[in-house]
Amino acid sequence: MLTKTQWQVCLQTFEEMFPDAHCELIHKNPFELLIATLLSAQCTDVLVNRVTADLFQKYKGPEDYVLVSIEELQQDIRSIGLWRNKSKNIKALSELLIEEYGGEVPPSRDVMMTLPGVGRKTANVVVSNAFGVPALAVDTHVERVAKRLGMNRWKDRPIDVEEKIMRWTPMEKWTQTHHQVIFFGRYHCKAQNPNCPECPLLYLCREGQKRMKDK
Ligand code: SF4
Repeated sequence: MLTKTQWQVCLQTFEEMFPDAHCELIHKNPFELLIATLLSAQCTDVLVNRVTADLFQKYKGPEDYVLVSIEELQQDIRSIGLWRNKSKNIKALSELLIEEYGGEVPPSRDVMMTLPGVGRKTANVVVSNAFGVPALAVDTHVERVAKRLGMNRWKDRPIDVEEKIMRWTPMEKWTQTHHQVIFFGRYHCKAQNPNCPECPLLYLCREGQKRMKDK
């Protein structure tokens, strides 16, 4: 397994490789980020941005999603996976935001997680990027990178990965580390064909060494 000292080397490497890592979901306010993050489940940020370019022109806030028919909203997000469930959740959470929170997104992860369709990962993304609350969202990239490096075991749950990374990373770096690990997973340690031969972490990565030996 990776040691805490080795993880510090990884953090340094992520920083050097992706100093400008950032949230790639285009948004202008917490509500738009919440909608974009919810839409991004099992979907690429590129596709979400393509859809939200029109969506956010048409729907300015929760009131607009409440007023539109479910059929029309489904039509507007139909190119995105899981559009049926996502439309239902967007309408339901918009209603709840208006009824309970004055139409604003609550700046608390725990409260946000009570909204329809909002899980821990989505809430972590929104509190950290929209409200500056230190949080570390574990998506498919973060989970894959942590497990390949031997930070976590393959059978660990996303919450185990989140807790381990938070334990070994200074709190003020949680949000930036989240973005940097995502970039590392998205552009370098890809799900298919990770770039192990040119990886600066190969010497401490159990998965990379195994892949190089199997070649
Ligand atoms: S050596 Fe390969 S598997 Fe390991 S972190 Fe680098 S790219 Fe990913």
